[in-house]
Amino acid sequence: MSLEQRKGTQASGPTNGNSVASSPSQAQVSENRLRLNPNFGHKPESYDDLRLDFSPLLFSSLERYLPPTMLPLPRDTKIQFMRDILLRYFPDGERTRVQRHREYRQKIISNYQPLYKEIYTMHARNFFVPSFLKAIDGNTKDSFRSIMAEPSPGVYTFEMFQPRFCELLLDEVENFERWVHETNFRIMRPNTMNKYGAVLDDFGLETMLEKLMNDFISPISKIFFPEVGGSTLDSHHGFVVEYGIDRDVELGFHVDDSEVTLNVCLGKQFSGGELFFRGVRCDKHVNTDSQSEEVLDYFHVPGHAVLHHGRHRHGARATTSGCRVNLLLWCRSSVFRELKKYQKEFSGWCGECKREKKERQRLSIDATKQELLNGKFAS
Ligand SMILES: [Zn+2]
Repeated sequence: MSLEQRKGTQASGPTNGNSVASSPSQAQVSENRLRLNPNFGHKPESYDDLRLDFSPLLFSSLERYLPPTMLPLPRDTKIQFMRDILLRYFPDGERTRVQRHREYRQKIISNYQPLYKEIYTMHARNFFVPSFLKAIDGNTKDSFRSIMAEPSPGVYTFEMFQPRFCELLLDEVENFERWVHETNFRIMRPNTMNKYGAVLDDFGLETMLEKLMNDFISPISKIFFPEVGGSTLDSHHGFVVEYGIDRDVELGFHVDDSEVTLNVCLGKQFSGGELFFRGVRCDKHVNTDSQSEEVLDYFHVPGHAVLHHGRHRHGARATTSGCRVNLLLWCRSSVFRELKKYQKEFSGWCGECKREKKERQRLSIDATKQELLNGKFAS
């Protein structure tokens, strides 16, 4: 079974670089060489009124370096020329992408009218069931354990949201989708594997979800996922996915672009759609077989959460009737990602790395035993 990594489409996640502008011919380059020193006597044009992929200020500053023959040319020609240069210096398009995404989000937030303002700020008593709040208040391994089941190692399930909150969030998402449809707004879907669904962070829920991660998921992750950055979560990607006959039907086997994933079913009526899990793996072992204790099929219950390591291989079976909507919160740790770069050989959290290590230990013990035995009989 080959496995995909489901990546987010938001600005902070890793994606492929944007395309690089075609480079001008050699003759053009030498003819249109930038000046070595800026021309302070020249008053640059203003680029503030344009939607460009670099800051308007950058264009104004760069204009002072343009070859004198270019200065009287139309603004569009100068933009084209400067943009080609800038793109060569930002080949991964990272800054462009972040800037564009910021503008995209701003455009939605200034035009979309929320239906229920009360879900845009954290109201813990209205959102969560009392048992969940009590466990968070307790803030100990025992208090969390008291509300959790662990049907397979590293997969934790518990009741989390009140039915009323699920309803409001479902309505809000529907209202947003309606707005998208009516205004013909081109939205970005939440990740590379879902054609339906919406990024909650993009239409105003970012602050609330940030609080959800910091105050409610981090305390749990600190205790149950310390080896994968669970105690240093510092960014998130929050979205909903929609399954059904006229939505996405199923989701292939994959790992998430997260350290810790929270997945809560919001409703509505549906059958099928089980989550299947097949064990946590590092990059090197992502396509290896599962051990029997790693095989789990989980049936969604509205309001109930599943919390797992992002590298826990999983997928969703077909939702055979009705409509299923789930909230996903991908929690990330920049500290863990930085450390991981230097730790290539062995990952304590990977099921296969652990199995290999045990196997090596067993072999070495056997070898030692054999040596001892041989020595005994030899003497
Ligand atoms: Zn491994």
